[in-house]
Amino acid sequence: SEADRLVEDLVPTHCCFCGVQCGMNLKVHNNKVIGVEARNYPHNRGSLCPKGVVAYQQVDHPDRLRYPLMRKRGKGSPLERVSWDEALDYIVKRWQQIQQQYGRDAVSIYSGSSMTNEKCYVMGKFARVGLRTRHVDYNGRLCMSSSAVAYSRAFGVDRAPLPLPDVELAKCIMVFGSNVAECFPVAMQWIWRARDRGASLIVVDPRETPLARSADIWLPVKPGTDIAVTNAMLRQIIKDGMVDEAYVQARTNGWEEVKASVETCTPEWAEQLSGIPAERIVAAARLYGRADPSLIMHARGIEHSSHGVDTCLSLVNMALARGQLGKPGGGSMMITGQGNGQGGREMGQKANQLPGYRHIDVPEERQYIADFWGIPEEELPWEGAAATEMVHLMAAGEIKSCMVVCSNLMVSLPDNHVVQQALTNLDPLIVVDFFMSETAELADVVLPGTVWCEDEGTTTNLEGRVIKINKAADPPGEARHDWKIAVELAKRLGRGKFFLYTSAYDIFEEIRQASKGGMSDYYGITWQKIEDQQGVFWPCPSLDHPGTPRLFAERFGHKDGKAKMFVIPYQPAVEEPGPEFPFRLTTGRVVYHYLSGNQTRRLGFLNAQAPEPWVEIHPQAAERLGIANEEVVRVTSPRGSIELKALVVPTIRPDTLFVPYHWGHRAAINQITSPAVEPNVKIPEYKACAARVDKLSAP
Ligand code: SF4
Repeated sequence: SEADRLVEDLVPTHCCFCGVQCGMNLKVHNNKVIGVEARNYPHNRGSLCPKGVVAYQQVDHPDRLRYPLMRKRGKGSPLERVSWDEALDYIVKRWQQIQQQYGRDAVSIYSGSSMTNEKCYVMGKFARVGLRTRHVDYNGRLCMSSSAVAYSRAFGVDRAPLPLPDVELAKCIMVFGSNVAECFPVAMQWIWRARDRGASLIVVDPRETPLARSADIWLPVKPGTDIAVTNAMLRQIIKDGMVDEAYVQARTNGWEEVKASVETCTPEWAEQLSGIPAERIVAAARLYGRADPSLIMHARGIEHSSHGVDTCLSLVNMALARGQLGKPGGGSMMITGQGNGQGGREMGQKANQLPGYRHIDVPEERQYIADFWGIPEEELPWEGAAATEMVHLMAAGEIKSCMVVCSNLMVSLPDNHVVQQALTNLDPLIVVDFFMSETAELADVVLPGTVWCEDEGTTTNLEGRVIKINKAADPPGEARHDWKIAVELAKRLGRGKFFLYTSAYDIFEEIRQASKGGMSDYYGITWQKIEDQQGVFWPCPSLDHPGTPRLFAERFGHKDGKAKMFVIPYQPAVEEPGPEFPFRLTTGRVVYHYLSGNQTRRLGFLNAQAPEPWVEIHPQAAERLGIANEEVVRVTSPRGSIELKALVVPTIRPDTLFVPYHWGHRAAINQITSPAVEPNVKIPEYKACAARVDKLSAP
């Protein structure tokens, strides 16, 4: 093509739009990214999905933020272009005033996980060492935090235990709560390859997704009732003598209690709760229980729940009972959603964590990082508020200022009205992003950051594979790398000596040292090794270590080397349907959009395919309510209403509604989703709340 004749350089890097992080080459001409081609990397094998092929179009997009903006004449005045010095001086002056008057914790950082590891690391350190606040958290809290905690508890390690190519070795794949074909399209090839080799497929999902349509058994579960299904399946596995007793005795703790706890979880009991016919639950348990190796894959469908951690643990119970963890092609596998969702949660920008996945409340782990950073241990802040709690502290006036980095709270957090109030209370709200977002629209200061094509650094994909991101173009206008913004702020706060970086490479070298000996140990990973090996899996504790693609072959991460099983009783979702709100409302992604849609809604082809949200409703329910396909209807929950086009489809349970969540303002479904959170990790219950749907003409 004409474009190909212009290509001067091919820059190898990875797609930014989901946790698979497919390998790609960016085509560069005259410091502009003009195209893309797939790169043959072990986990994507030369494939890209629709998002991947247009991701580069963000780089030169006319909507890019190019200059710092500020409301110079106070709240309510328009955002105006200012110099970097003016913006940064103003921010620091306000932060110093606020911290003097209200204490250090009156300022917070709300970070993102679609950034490189280097940016994530600097944001966590900047909060704790630069600003010296305890309030730092990130948007991964809304994503995979349930499975992260579940795997830490069960295995002592928070990482998918096996690489994607292992999926094709499984003889049975059971997918709980993941629309893999739309959310991780390229990962589908591993499921198809397993199918080609004769693997069976079970899908548990309230919607007959593209994946569910091709399954041997589809279990159309009522949103929020998965634990009833998992416990009944485990009971059936026990009853049919399919437990790997030797494995359970040798490699796990807690089995007898778990076994006793599911005794009463009959398939008929599970049918009552989940709506799935008892015989289908039995058939699924047998199909799964007889296969070896067998793999359970799971994602947000079960994790966005007030019982998200428990649901993940109940899946782990099943995989352990079958003796699958540690086998090639066997076990359980969380499918991390956000681009750098895995790395972002290891770098120390999470409220309760320090780099290397160290815990902020464990004395020797605090001491290691305090010594490494060169500060007294007593000066290292303790655990702060989780992302979902931070907003309430803003609304209550306890947090007076927040810097939001590459996150769009106004679309992604539940109960938008509270979020808007919270953000409006801040003075100043600072947003670092590369496009104007619904959150940035409320900001007092907007600072232009970089997109991934302009970045150098690393990310860690959903497998735990650390990969290299390479720079293909300069940032536009005066846009700056996000980590450089934090460094400039630290200098103005008089803390510059802790941030003496001249490049992302310097930061990566610090990450290696900071993570040394931690759970996610990067010490033995170098940029050269990443190139040579096509990624390196952590833990990689020494320079001569090859990395660890498969975990748990002999030991789990706990001190005694055993996995822990947990008794998981069934509990309903916080909000159950009733006469006024008879449906269960669930939310999710579509193939054309990423997270809050702030990036993909700007990319023509993607936006043309899905320009606005809709509500999926079953034909039986639609007929009962007199709703026609494509008619605009009102969807209402106890928190308010939203008007959406109805999509009448037979692929959803008749008692369930589905709305995709990638839009803002009046089209944001999170205006009405439940503010309930999981009590331990504070992940919102996006996947189950009570709702009704009415014709617009209804009173
Ligand atoms: Fe990008 Fe994910 Fe698509 Fe791969 S599957 S091209 S990483 S969005």
